[in-house]
Amino acid sequence: MRPIRRSRAEGRLAIRQAVIVALIGLVLGLAFSALQVSRDYKASEEDERRDIEQMLAVTREPAAQAAYHLNAQAAAVVVQGALSFAPVREVVLRNDFGETLADGHKDKGTADAGAWWTRYVPPNQEYRLPLTYGPTGKRVGELLVVTGRGPRVERFLQNVWRDVVLSVVSSLVVALALGVWFYASLTRPLMAIAQRIRDGSAGDEPAAIAEFDRADEIGEIAAAFERYEQEARERTRNIEAAAAALAASELRHRRIVETAGEGVWQVDQQGTTTLANEAMAQMLGTTAAALHGRSMFDFMDEDGRRTATELFFGLRSGGSVRHEFRFVRTDGSELWAEVSTCLITEPDGRHAGALAMVTNATERRRRDDELRASNAQLRAMVGDLERHKQDMAQISELNELLQSARTEAEAFEVIRAVGSRLFAGGSGALSMVGRGDANEMTRVGEWGTPTMLPPRCERESCWAIRRGGPHLQSPGHGLHCAHDSVGEIGRLLCTPLYVEGQLLGVLQVADDVAAGNEPLDDALRRRAELFGEVIKLGLSNLRLRDSLREQALHDALTGLPNRRLFDEALPRELARCTRSGQALTLAVVDIDHFKHFNDTYGHDMGDRVLRAVASTLMRSIRSGDLACRYGGDEFLCLLVGTTAAEAQARFSELLAQGRVGDGLGGDAMPEPVTFTIGLASAPESGTEAKALLRAADAALYAAKARGRHCIEVAASQRPDVKPAPATVT
Ligand code: GH3
Ligand code: MG
Repeated sequence: MRPIRRSRAEGRLAIRQAVIVALIGLVLGLAFSALQVSRDYKASEEDERRDIEQMLAVTREPAAQAAYHLNAQAAAVVVQGALSFAPVREVVLRNDFGETLADGHKDKGTADAGAWWTRYVPPNQEYRLPLTYGPTGKRVGELLVVTGRGPRVERFLQNVWRDVVLSVVSSLVVALALGVWFYASLTRPLMAIAQRIRDGSAGDEPAAIAEFDRADEIGEIAAAFERYEQEARERTRNIEAAAAALAASELRHRRIVETAGEGVWQVDQQGTTTLANEAMAQMLGTTAAALHGRSMFDFMDEDGRRTATELFFGLRSGGSVRHEFRFVRTDGSELWAEVSTCLITEPDGRHAGALAMVTNATERRRRDDELRASNAQLRAMVGDLERHKQDMAQISELNELLQSARTEAEAFEVIRAVGSRLFAGGSGALSMVGRGDANEMTRVGEWGTPTMLPPRCERESCWAIRRGGPHLQSPGHGLHCAHDSVGEIGRLLCTPLYVEGQLLGVLQVADDVAAGNEPLDDALRRRAELFGEVIKLGLSNLRLRDSLREQALHDALTGLPNRRLFDEALPRELARCTRSGQALTLAVVDIDHFKHFNDTYGHDMGDRVLRAVASTLMRSIRSGDLACRYGGDEFLCLLVGTTAAEAQARFSELLAQGRVGDGLGGDAMPEPVTFTIGLASAPESGTEAKALLRAADAALYAAKARGRHCIEVAASQRPDVKPAPATVT
């Protein structure tokens, strides 16, 4: 069943269509009838004009003659004749001078007077006929014919009303018929299709309508619409499905964004936040709601704003940029973050802003910084260790070289060489306490800047010695030693070298830093300390070695070389003299009755006697000769380049000078001290040390046997050499 609303709407539409069609018919009818009446009027006017022209053509000749001849009667006839024409109301015949020859009229001025239409149309119409006469066609006058429009207008008006009524009625009938046909064939099917469109838009599958089966254009339209509707429905279903999927996807993505651990931050072209999740807001120290609408530049300092602007406007669509960025949180603290930014582009290609994935990198950066710092520390430690290793190698080499040095001069040379390598780029010097004067320091070696220290200086001039420990001085800072030339060389560290409380010397190390109050590098200080320790050890070892050697080869009581040294020297000197052909004499000296001194005056007196005899012997030999204590109260003298005779002469002189106790030793003796000498010379008495010793010893015994305080020369072992005569002084 049709819904009432639909039939009412159709009814209203039908009435509207009928009214429109009727109005159109009315207008068309009126226009048509006006056209028809107007054409009729014009035709009647044309007919009248033709009739008048025919009448004038007939009247022309008589009128021209009447005018030419100025014949009033003929003119009156002409006028009467013209007046006999129904439409003519007035006729006037004038000669060439304008004088009226005859005139006449019918109901002149009354027929149409006061008629309404005369306001729009003149009531009369004039026709003027110029009159000519003769072969020359000379103008002789004019015939004026005036016709009235009244009858024609009356007729026109009567016809108008009739025609209008007829036209309107017929138009209405035709319009009604057309309206009915139009409604039935077009409007109604189209209404049905429109209803179907409305029903279709409601969502349910609408029922098929009869119009789809029609074979005419409406059927075509309906079928096309049906196809279109099917496609539209399909498309709508697809769009709805896509929209639903999109909505679900958007919801999913929104959830992902909201629950993501990483920060998600979206800004528009001005940098204003359009989307941010809680993770992002928390990183910045705010909430997502508070962050929304805020400018990203609020969370940056000046540098950050500049960098962000460059990055932001340097972005290309389709690409993303990763960078580490420093934000300023709401509480003013810094936030380092890894930001991956891409541009948001509208479908029309317009840039709409940027989307960034933000990862908090503050902790990682802190760990990186710590790692870098510990790496640097480790590298520094490795560098220190490497340097220390090199130092230790140098120190070890120094130690080894010092152990191998035989003299202090060699040791100082070693110290200078190793010091210049160990403190490369710097300067240094070693000053030693003088052996003679303990208050004077002597520079024994230096490296780097020459004349860093004076060659000699007072022991008390050095603060390190006075303080008993290392002393650092730098230009314009700290106490300066009197020997200091630090102003020219940089900073100076003086380290005193003490061994068992005894000052050996002072080690000075300077670096080339121009100025500054920073403490001397710890490594340099340690190196200087170690260097000083090894120098102390090396030098004290050397001195100990010297001392032991001295003790091993010398007699502690008299200070003379002992038997050991002599046993080494005798074969050497013998070989040398044999090679060079020089003479060599060995003298064995024994104190007479020495036991008696010991027994009588004690061992101390005995020792004094021994020292006095040693001193006497030392004074009596030449340089190059050797005197030693051979044991007990026995001394040996090795006289190089001296024959037995020469030796005998020299010792005889000594014995002749008196006894030791008489002033030979310079010491007052309770009794005079005398000694006996046995001489043996090479090669006369032998070329071997043992043989020579035996010969000299034998000579001594011989001298003792002779009575003491005398000299005996050993008998020659060679057959060609006669022994010198024994001499007693
Ligand atoms: P002669 O004239 O025959 O040589 O008689 P002498 O008394 O010198 O005899 P002898 O050579 O036997 O005496 C040596 C003494 O010298 C024995 C020993 O007690 C003593 N003597 C050895 N060495 C030392 C020493 O270093 N100091 C002291 N005071 N006496 C010593
Ligand atoms: Mg003796």
